[in-house]
Amino acid sequence: MFRLAVALAASTLVAGCGVAIPQFGGPVPTPGHVSLNDLPVPAYVCAAVDDTSTVATFRSSLIDYVECARQSWTPALQAIGRRAPDPAVFVEATDAPSACTGLLTDDEVGMYCRLDGSLVFSDDLRWMADDGDLIAARVAFHEYAHAVQHELGMVLDAPSGSSTRRIELQATCWSAMLLRTLDGLQVTDEVRQYLADDVGSVGDADHGTSESRRRWTLIGFDATSMAACDTSKAPESHVS
Ligand SMILES: [Zn+2]
Repeated sequence: MFRLAVALAASTLVAGCGVAIPQFGGPVPTPGHVSLNDLPVPAYVCAAVDDTSTVATFRSSLIDYVECARQSWTPALQAIGRRAPDPAVFVEATDAPSACTGLLTDDEVGMYCRLDGSLVFSDDLRWMADDGDLIAARVAFHEYAHAVQHELGMVLDAPSGSSTRRIELQATCWSAMLLRTLDGLQVTDEVRQYLADDVGSVGDADHGTSESRRRWTLIGFDATSMAACDTSKAPESHVS
């Protein structure tokens, strides 16, 4: 299970999610074949917006963000002979149970469910959004990133440690990379810093220190190639 947890008291992201032995880019490509790292960042423009007015509208927003992620990832994954995951979306307490319903803890707001490939979100997420923090998009893109990692054959559920953090920080980087695709979002330096500070406001042993989470958020914002988020090649000090 890969989770994005939230420190409810602080209303900030804590991280979440998973453990893995990185096998970045999936199976080793045969000679002459393109690898994920050779590809540019997604150019898809995402028109999804947060609508927190009701559970139903917020659920629709999450579904829209997940669909944006699928559209964004499709060209790159097709280029390496993979398919973009098309996960079902469950909002706890509102939808029929998924295989992972009930597995979110009180301080977690989202998770990738390996049991059925779905994404599970807490309705608490609806109450946490602050102006401009893009938390729903961030969580949806982060959890979708774990679905991509699963599609790429990365080994998940290894013991906690550096390998886990590399997977989590890659998902954080990929999430920031997709935030740039939001229609109308002006990624000024002020916006970059604000969002990076928010992501980095918390940290833990599995998801990286505040500094690491902040670093990989900024790298994701600035990425021009998929290789930028390849945490497997990062020095240990950058994935602490
Ligand atoms: Zn995660």
